Amino acid sequence: MNVKVVKFGGSSLADAKQITKAADIIKSDDKRRFVVPSAPGKRFSDDIKVTDMLYSCNKLAMENKNIDSAFSMIADRYNGIISDLGLELSLDEEFEKIKKNISDKTGSEYAASRGEYLNGIIIANLLGYEFIDAAEVIVFNQDGSFNNEKTQPKLRERLKGIEKAVIPGFYGADETGAVRTFSRGGSDVTGSIIASAVKAEVYENWTDVSGFLVSDPRIVNNPKAISVITYKELRELAYMGASVLHEDAIFPVRTAGIPINIKNTNIPDDAGTMIVSEVPEDEYNKYTITGIAGKKGFAAINIEKAMMNSELGFCRKVMSVLEDNSISIEHMPSGIDTLSLIFPYSDIEGKENEVISQIRKIVSPDHIELEKGIAMLAVVGRGMRRTRGTAARIFASMAHARINVKMIDQGSSELNVIIGIGEADFEEAIRKIYDMFINSVE
Ligand code: ASP
Repeated sequence: MNVKVVKFGGSSLADAKQITKAADIIKSDDKRRFVVPSAPGKRFSDDIKVTDMLYSCNKLAMENKNIDSAFSMIADRYNGIISDLGLELSLDEEFEKIKKNISDKTGSEYAASRGEYLNGIIIANLLGYEFIDAAEVIVFNQDGSFNNEKTQPKLRERLKGIEKAVIPGFYGADETGAVRTFSRGGSDVTGSIIASAVKAEVYENWTDVSGFLVSDPRIVNNPKAISVITYKELRELAYMGASVLHEDAIFPVRTAGIPINIKNTNIPDDAGTMIVSEVPEDEYNKYTITGIAGKKGFAAINIEKAMMNSELGFCRKVMSVLEDNSISIEHMPSGIDTLSLIFPYSDIEGKENEVISQIRKIVSPDHIELEKGIAMLAVVGRGMRRTRGTAARIFASMAHARINVKMIDQGSSELNVIIGIGEADFEEAIRKIYDMFINSVE
C-alpha cells in the first residue's frame, strides 16, 4: 500500500525547468514510485503543445505533404529538453522511426501518442526509473474504447516486482497492436488506471493550479481553493462546466476507493484538493457549499394548458416529441397548468419551428413559446443536507441583485441546487452567491 502514483500534466513538463521541478517532487517522497507523464505542453500562452504539433504533422502526412520541417520542430523541442537537462541520451533513432511511421500514415492516434512516449523515455532516463511502454499494458478494444478487464491483470503482472517506473499517459494499444489514445487530456485517465492496479494510497495529479477553486477565477476575484471534495460533488460541478480533470479519470480510482490529490507543480507545498468517496458526516465545513459552476446556452419550451394536470400522458407526449428530435432535457419545472422543458439550445437549433408545431399537434396547448438565452447555475455542497436555509440564501442573494430566477431545482440527494437565470445575469449571479456563502462567512 506504500505507493503513490503521480501524474504530471503538460504544463508541468513543458521544458527542462518544469521537468526538474517534477523530478524534485518525485524524489522528495519514496512512495512516488509510478510516474505518468503527459507530453510537453505550453511554455507560454501562445506556445503550441507537442500533442498539437503531432496532430498537425499527421494531417500533413494524410494530405501527402512533406512533414520534414513540421517534424523537425518536434524533434528540436525534445532535443532542447534533453540538452538543458544535461542527459546523455539520443532519441535520433526514435525520431527517424516515428517520422517514417507518420509519413506512412499510421494514423492520428499513433502520431499523437508519441508526445507522451518520447517524454516518458526522457523522464525515465532522468529519474533512473524503468520505462514501460503504455502500449504493452493499457488495452483498448478495437472500437477505440478502453478495456479495463484486460488492462488490470496485464498491468499487475508487468509491474510485479518493479520498484519504480515511468509509464506514459494518454495511450495504449488494441489487440492488433495498433496504438490507441484516450480523448484529449487522457493522461489523467492513465494515471487513474495505474493507481487502481497498484492499489495506490493516493493518486496525485500534478498540474498548474492548486486544485479546484470554489468558483471560476475569471468571474470571481481570487476565489478560495476547495480542500476536500467528494466524487459526487465533483461530478455535479464538472457537468456544469468546472474542469481540471478528465471526466473518465474518476471511475478507476473511485471504484478502488483511492483518493485523488490535485497538486500544483509550481507551489508543491500547497495542500491542493483532495477528491474522496466519503467525508465523515460530522466534518466541519464552514461554508456549507463546496463550489459554484454554471453554463450558458440553454433554452426552454414553456407550455400552458388549462387542466393540464388531469390530462393523462401529457408530459409523456411532449417528451416523446423531444426524444424524436434528439433533444436532451436537463430540467422540467412544472406548475398545475404549466410545464417548462429546459435543454441545451444547440439541440434544437435549426428545427425550432418544427419541434414547436409537433408539440402543438400532439397536446394542443393554450400557449407555447421557445425562450432562449438561459443560463444554469449549480450550487453544490454536501453540507446542504445538514443545513437549513440554503435555498433561501440563494434566493435572497438573487433578489438583492435584482436577478430574476426562472427556475430552481433541488436534487433528491440534497447535494445541489440548480437555478435557471437569464444569460445576462450569469456572472453577477455567481458573484452574489459567492459573496453570500463564502465572503460573508470570512
Ligand atoms: N497530451 C495529451 C493532450 O494534450 C494528453 C494529456 O495531456 O493528458 O491532450
